[in-house]
Amino acid sequence: MTRILGIDLGTTNSCVAVLDEKGQPKTLAAPDGERTTPSWVAWAPNQEVTVGTRARRQAVTNASATVHGAKRLIGRKVNADDVAHFAKLAPFRIVAAPNGDAWVRIHGQPVSPQEVAAHILRQLRSIAESALGEPVTRAVVTVPAYFDDAQRQATRDAGMIAGLDVVRILNEPTAAALAYGAHRTGAGRRIIAVFDLGGGTFDISIMSVENGIFEVLATGGDSALGGEDWDRAMLERIVDDVFDQYRVDLTQVPMALSRLREACEQAKKTLSVDRETTLQLPFLANDQHGAPINYERTITRDEVEQLTKGLLERVTAPCERALADAGLDASDIEEVLLVGGMTRWPAVQDRVEQIFAKKPSKGANPDEVVALGAAAYAGILAGEADDAALLDVTPHDIGIKVGDTGFSVIIPRNSMLPVRARKLFATSATDQKFVSIELYQGESSDVTKNRKLGQVVLDDLPAGPPGSVRVELVITVDVESIVGVTAKELKSGKETSITIRPSGGLSQREIVEIINRRRNEHSVANYLPSDGGNVVRVTTREQAAVKPPRDDS
Ligand code: AMP
Repeated sequence: MTRILGIDLGTTNSCVAVLDEKGQPKTLAAPDGERTTPSWVAWAPNQEVTVGTRARRQAVTNASATVHGAKRLIGRKVNADDVAHFAKLAPFRIVAAPNGDAWVRIHGQPVSPQEVAAHILRQLRSIAESALGEPVTRAVVTVPAYFDDAQRQATRDAGMIAGLDVVRILNEPTAAALAYGAHRTGAGRRIIAVFDLGGGTFDISIMSVENGIFEVLATGGDSALGGEDWDRAMLERIVDDVFDQYRVDLTQVPMALSRLREACEQAKKTLSVDRETTLQLPFLANDQHGAPINYERTITRDEVEQLTKGLLERVTAPCERALADAGLDASDIEEVLLVGGMTRWPAVQDRVEQIFAKKPSKGANPDEVVALGAAAYAGILAGEADDAALLDVTPHDIGIKVGDTGFSVIIPRNSMLPVRARKLFATSATDQKFVSIELYQGESSDVTKNRKLGQVVLDDLPAGPPGSVRVELVITVDVESIVGVTAKELKSGKETSITIRPSGGLSQREIVEIINRRRNEHSVANYLPSDGGNVVRVTTREQAAVKPPRDDS
């Protein structure tokens, strides 16, 4: 039987797992023994690519060609607020692709985040193939529950570029709940919270589990909050210390900063167990007289807690909002599952206990639990493990543009999937030839602040006075959060043509080009999509005549 990998493609770290012979999920270690791979990719001037720890280590000398956090860019527009914020801080250049997507520029060449992610996926695939001693071509890949369809599709495209058939995109909290065995405990409907604080992002999901059915009831979080912020707070403190003692500004010494960042992260990990540790950094930099600074300092957990009080504060509001969105309060939550390395920090665990008024579960390794859940789900798909159905919700409002800037919601956020909604339109002009409907998703009543999904143009309308021709719009979102759109002219009942103009993503041609560049690595022709492989998928379930998406890149 061919194996299906479970892959957690993370913002800071990624992880791969499979089911073992006994049907238990297990993570697979790289040859260096590490079970997680930093989601870092670097290009040498000769275009040689390195991935993972090696890429992160060389970042200080090759910052502009070392990409991390590509997950923040995948399937996103360059002008999105948080992308622009990330671009300001990133040491590599983030540029606009011709269609407005956020790409990176490496040694003068534009590279899509899908391609960056594909390098990580290829590395994970190779770790799995070495560990298993056999080729693997299929995977379940996890994404945050709030990823929209463009981000999900872009993640699939990354898999395809890496020679992987992504058989399912799975929500991370669902994967975590599966790994914790939340579906096996007790009878009846249980409400759980999945609290995921990783290196760069914070996600909270409220889920229900009943008879092996998982349902994401609400999601929330802070995409700019994670363990790296704790490291940075410590680093800034040390930079100030060094300046006070030696009048040397370490922010101007990249090599020292990089060493300091690693030392702070390590100290933070130690302090999650011990109350005190020593930072030792010999030859950190030179003082004003050229003498080496051999930096040594004791740091306590209390001190770090003081420095990071404001960061901890920021986890509360998203939890409260997610509970409110789910129509629940903390006392309804039966269990809180911890995900993400930063949940090992005691103050984070205390805060979780305070928010939900119960001790969180710590039974699983928070760095690996999402990959383990993905492997468990892969086992379900392959028929190797017990059955469990998965129900999810739409992470954002989906609706249409009204007037210049209005947004009319058709499918509200947190609607259970699959979902189908219908809206009727009437023509507003005499002999109107066509209607053009622009689809958006997001939470703002100002449509320009939301994300455009695509445009449906229904033409060849019959002639008649205003209001005489009625058009039915049907929007569906399937269990994988893929959006389908159908428009139908009701008076004649005739089949009509629909044009979807994708607003971004890689076109099939671009994917083929990237794959061809790497043809000597793996042949992946079998995995090319039969449709346009583009952002908005249109199902044929509504019997619409669907033109393939226009390749507008
Ligand atoms: P993840 O994205 O889930 O891999 O989480 C990575 C984050 O977890 C990084 O910021 C790590 O520094 C942090 N982390 C990992 N282990 C620990 C630990 N023992 N104590 C505190 N933070 C940790």
